[in-house]
Amino acid sequence: MSARILVVDDIPTNVKLLEARLTAEYFDVLTASDGPTALALAASEAPDLILLDVMMPGMDGLEVCRCLKADSATRHIPVVMVTALTDVGDRVRGLEAGADDFLSKPVNEVALFARVRSLVRLKMLTDELRTRQAMSGEAELLEQVGESGEGAAGSILVIDANVRGGDRMRSYLEEAGYDVLVCTSKDAALEICQTDRFDLIITAIEIAGEDGLRLCSQFRSREATRYVPILMVLEDMDLQRLAKGLDLGVTDYVVKPVDRNELEARVRTQIRRRRYHDRLRSVLDRSVSMAFTDGLTGIYNRRYMSAHLDRKLMEIAETGKPVSIMLFDIDHFKLVNDTYGHAIGDEVLKAVTDHVSESVRETDLLARYGGEEFVLVMPATDVEIALKVADRIRERLSHQTIPAGAAGSNVTVTISAGVASTFDPLETPDALLKRADQALYAAKQNGRNLVFGVNGPATPDAKRAARAAVGD
Ligand code: GH3
Ligand code: MG
Ligand code: MG
Repeated sequence: MSARILVVDDIPTNVKLLEARLTAEYFDVLTASDGPTALALAASEAPDLILLDVMMPGMDGLEVCRCLKADSATRHIPVVMVTALTDVGDRVRGLEAGADDFLSKPVNEVALFARVRSLVRLKMLTDELRTRQAMSGEAELLEQVGESGEGAAGSILVIDANVRGGDRMRSYLEEAGYDVLVCTSKDAALEICQTDRFDLIITAIEIAGEDGLRLCSQFRSREATRYVPILMVLEDMDLQRLAKGLDLGVTDYVVKPVDRNELEARVRTQIRRRRYHDRLRSVLDRSVSMAFTDGLTGIYNRRYMSAHLDRKLMEIAETGKPVSIMLFDIDHFKLVNDTYGHAIGDEVLKAVTDHVSESVRETDLLARYGGEEFVLVMPATDVEIALKVADRIRERLSHQTIPAGAAGSNVTVTISAGVASTFDPLETPDALLKRADQALYAAKQNGRNLVFGVNGPATPDAKRAARAAVGD
């Protein structure tokens, strides 16, 4: 991942040390030795993350952080304060200045990379949303998203098998004005999340002998909780498990004994960020004009997809990561229309869109290419993964039954898919789509309900079908 990180510290050795470690992990590193330079670089270079020393002569780290967070151009860049002090009061002041996290000196490698990776990932999501919003042609709306976090405090789900621990957490949070629900088991938590919407989930790392990390990954894979921030409560500073948690999508953590002020500051930051993302999404929803979306299914149209794909292909020059696309077409769709009527045909198109949308990542983009043909754009995805994703979607759809109107009958449809992939930033969207289309054509020729890559059948099923087709 070639994310850019700005390291700010007044002591040259500290800068050198962090720079060396980050460069070794293939991050691009920018450096500054004072606050004003840091602010100028943040504005001109738009780094993905800032590691900021707290104690600096002149303008200190807290002041720099406040300035960064006050400016709409830099506010979304995550800031990690690097401090020699482990005093809770300092952490709280930092969080209040808008810092996203802390590292204490000497900086521990596992903690450093866990935080950096998780914050960079979050930043990429924010960027993606911001770019989609800007592309929708109403850039000034971005400004409205700026200030967030006002209004009702928010609702929080606390998961802790220890009743007293859960109650203490509840009383802290309720006094701070939040609506709190406490669950004492993993299953109860998963169930309540199906129906209730939370702004934050706080979970113990161990819930009655069950692994809290597993629960986190379940939250991440479910539609209802995919974007809800998760704050993990650690029994002690177990860096390995913490790193694993952050990789699984835990957004923040506190270590027992939980300091009340620190907890409140972290909860506030998480909820503020969640609202910022929600508002970005809703501003985006409102502002994406009909020109970019398909009227029937509500997903992006071919025109938008083309522009998006063009941009993703150009980004290969910076990321060095391949872009893959999946082009798919519903099999014998004409027959669905002929059998059930055009209106049911429309319902089937919508249902297919919904099922596919549910099973792809936030950074993937699904678009209607035309009629009953769709494209899934998968940035930073190599061909093997893309073929797996495509086959998972194909498989999943083939088991779905779609209700066919009042008659009460169900429709089942299958799709055929072609996958194409490139490492070449100079490749054009048309050229890539053409290759995917050839693969799709081969999938149709070989019997449908199959996934083909540009080099031929992609899965055991597809290979068998291809052999049968040539009478082997
Ligand atoms: P194949 O497996 O080869 O793809 O067969 P097919 O029947 O799916 O392909 P064909 O291209 O012959 O037919 C596509 C059909 O999709 C014909 C067209 O009327 C229908 N179609 C296209 N857009 C819509 C739409 O918006 N709503 C409905 N209900 N049908 C549509
Ligand atoms: Mg078709
Ligand atoms: Mg077609």
